[in-house]
Amino acid sequence: MISRSLSRRAFVASTLVGAANVATRKVCSADRTARRVKIIDIHTHLGTFNWGQELTPEGLLKLMDAHDIERAVVLPLISPETSLFPQTTHAALAACKAYPDRLIPFCCFDPRAYHHDPKKPDRIGRIGGVPGMVELLKRYQDLGAKGFGEHQVGLPFDDHLMMTVYEALETVELPILFHLDDIRGADTPGLPRLEHALRSFPKLPMIGHACGFWASISADATDYDFGHYPTIPKPVVPGGALELLLAKYPSLYCDLSEPGGYFAIARDMEFGRPFVIRWADRLLFGTDYLMPDQEIPHFELYDSLDLPEDVQAKIYRENAIRLLKLPAIPA
Ligand SMILES: [Zn+2]
Repeated sequence: MISRSLSRRAFVASTLVGAANVATRKVCSADRTARRVKIIDIHTHLGTFNWGQELTPEGLLKLMDAHDIERAVVLPLISPETSLFPQTTHAALAACKAYPDRLIPFCCFDPRAYHHDPKKPDRIGRIGGVPGMVELLKRYQDLGAKGFGEHQVGLPFDDHLMMTVYEALETVELPILFHLDDIRGADTPGLPRLEHALRSFPKLPMIGHACGFWASISADATDYDFGHYPTIPKPVVPGGALELLLAKYPSLYCDLSEPGGYFAIARDMEFGRPFVIRWADRLLFGTDYLMPDQEIPHFELYDSLDLPEDVQAKIYRENAIRLLKLPAIPA
């Protein structure tokens, strides 16, 4: 989900700057490797995000068809810090049941519905605590959920309640897609809280995105950067916490969607392109579709990168198939 620290209008305006930056990279457009792979989009939403702009399943399919997106992950959004309009797991499951060949459901709950007493039933499961979460997650898995998220909760990233969610997810072997900035899944430069979670639950695939996560591509990321997207161009200082964690924890993945993912690459294309190639096994392409008329600058950005075919296959498709254990329909 797009952070409230940057309005959609501001994002679109800023992407014009990005487009100019992309244009300067098009030195050899004749050599450009055309996108030859149908996309599995790791990040979309259904329902209302902005007042009066509902994205229906049919509206999403239209956007997907316009951009060669074969299948899309539908992420519920239910925490109060995300939106005025909750998008429930049950709505995602119903939409995906209607279009099982195109839409892939994730499930989600807010751990604050868990009241800390493992001996009592709570709002999450008939039995309390992590076992209650496990019971609920297994029920969602039986209904088709392939992952958990968008996990965007107004708590520190390694808060006790957040850690109980990660523990339950590791138990049921569902990957998590999380949002990390200065408010939701909050962390600080160096990403110590994210590292605490990665270290504690090494078997849990964790797919990150948003402002603070992607600001950490640069070693000079500040607290301010965790709540604000960069003005581009802005050179990346090598050795950022994100890359250090990718090297140390094979369970860490990156969701390229939303302004954070866009700016991380567009801010410094000379750094961005080798980064994408270097970490091709850990990057997943996503749009963060939320609205019927939404423009996604990522398509032009990635087309301009002239990525090798094997890299395209991984970030557009194969990593998602592997991580979500999807049927491997040939592209
Ligand atoms: Zn989102």
